[in-house]
Amino acid sequence: FSGTANREMPPIYDKPTTEKYDYIVIGGGSGGSGTARRAVSYGKKVAVVEATPYLGGTCVNVGCVPKKIMWHAADLQDKITNHAHGYKFTGIENAKFDWASFKPQRDAYIRRLNGIYANNFDKEGVEFHRGFGRLVARDKVEVTKPDGQTYVLTADNICIAVGGQPTIPSEEEIPGASLGIDSDGFFDLPEQPRRVAIVGAGYIAIELAGIFNALGTETHLLIRGDTVLRTFDPTIQEALTPWMEKTGVHLHKRTHVTKVEGEKGGPLTVHTDNGEKVEVDVLLWAIGRHASTKGLGLEELGVKLDKKGDVVVDEYQNSSVPGITAIGDVQGKWLLTPVAIAAGRRLSNRLFGPEKFKNDKLSYEDIPTVVFSHPTIGTVGLTEPEARAKYGDDAIKIYKSSFRALYFSMVDEEHKEPTVYKLICAGPEERVVGVHIIGLGSDEVMQGFAVAVKMGARKQDLDDTVAIHPTSGEELVTLR
Ligand code: FAD
Ligand code: NDP
Repeated sequence: FSGTANREMPPIYDKPTTEKYDYIVIGGGSGGSGTARRAVSYGKKVAVVEATPYLGGTCVNVGCVPKKIMWHAADLQDKITNHAHGYKFTGIENAKFDWASFKPQRDAYIRRLNGIYANNFDKEGVEFHRGFGRLVARDKVEVTKPDGQTYVLTADNICIAVGGQPTIPSEEEIPGASLGIDSDGFFDLPEQPRRVAIVGAGYIAIELAGIFNALGTETHLLIRGDTVLRTFDPTIQEALTPWMEKTGVHLHKRTHVTKVEGEKGGPLTVHTDNGEKVEVDVLLWAIGRHASTKGLGLEELGVKLDKKGDVVVDEYQNSSVPGITAIGDVQGKWLLTPVAIAAGRRLSNRLFGPEKFKNDKLSYEDIPTVVFSHPTIGTVGLTEPEARAKYGDDAIKIYKSSFRALYFSMVDEEHKEPTVYKLICAGPEERVVGVHIIGLGSDEVMQGFAVAVKMGARKQDLDDTVAIHPTSGEELVTLR
């Protein structure tokens, strides 16, 4: 291998070190790292091919981690501006977030994480091959190095873990669409924009709109329907949508962008089908993501893709071609970091682990998830409409409570955030099949209740659990 210029960074490989590897993983993100590290723990010879110089993928570089850091900044701003004076703090109301000096600090932290990923690979024996990976045979991956040279790695097991990327409308669909940025571009913004328009109503649109709004950017959210997060339980949609409006997000409902005018980096005019002209400095598309399967050589080998371009896999992450598996965002189900990691580790358990793991696989049922909105949302299991469709109206019992967290007792009325907790129970034993919560701390409350749901908890089990007081979470074990 050749060393790297940066002496703190471990080696990056640029040629094969064996005729045949046990496992080649294309993509060094959440899933790729998880499956590769588990495979070497079984003494296997493993290569990870990563197109960028930075391991960690979307989550570390342009996803969960920098996003959550920005959420914390926004949360602090909210507390300083809207809550602190209720607690009789004085002199800090005008404190203002300094985006321009915060960004390099955030970036430096991410670079540290990249280094930790690379060091872990090095310590454990995973080879990091820097280059674009492409399947050229069912057991061969061609690596194109940054300088354009290529070499080929061979293995009987190849895992596709290339993740996805943001979708932006084409110029034909929406003239001027390319003047907008996406969530990757959000993390590149050197300064805080004064005015922003975000298109979309999913996780990313809601999280980024919340961050901008709390930090004081004039924030326009353009959504196609009447509510945000339309795939979530209706109670969540009904609680968050008006609260976003109340806290200052300019919500443009039933709105489609028809045209964008202006200059890249400059002021933009966003035209909508309602005849509006929204003047902003930044337009951000958050209308979903698609798998990074282009140029991977999958179709040529007969690896089946669905209409969206996601790799079709069975419950064991096998693609339609033996020896080729896929994990994480590229397989299109549950685009979440812990899902990619869990699927990747279990795949390596099954392929390379002891006998007891020969059927190991990730269960995609009851996956908990959180939206880092303001306030945060936590959810696991079925939504009410899904539960009614599955079990029938008569078999469903709903428990619900709306309240204000104690924290807000000292805060002005207009800044008291809502909390809404909902349990969906099914059958005569009232098994908890869905938990949907919004309110202060929901992101942290959710994990334990997800364990309970996964274990098949009944309403009675929650009732039998002694509450922790005074918290918001205790409400979930005292619902009537
Ligand atoms: P990725 O992490 O995307 O890794 C894929 C890797 O493959 C990349 O490093 C890429 O460079 C590389 N690659 C692609 N093509 C090739 C090729 N041909 N050759 C070599 N390398 C290649 N999830 C959460 O659980 N919690 C959150 O809070 C959260 N927040 C998010 C916020 C944002 C803004 C975004 C965009 C996503 C967020 N996610 C979150 C989702 C999460 O980031 C993804 O689900 C996760 O990163 C998927 O992991 P992966 O391994 O499938 O793909
Ligand atoms: P989502 O699938 O969550 O949301 C995309 C949204 O865009 C939809 O809700 C849809 O809303 C809207 N939309 C789709 N097409 C169009 C269009 N042509 N014009 C206008 N609006 C459109 O995707 P995201 O990009 O927000 O996030 C991708 C995934 O990343 C998420 O699904 C999630 O799995 C993951 N993620 C997880 C996070 C977390 O765990 N906290 C945070 C961020 C991302 P509607 O149908 O209502 O119009």
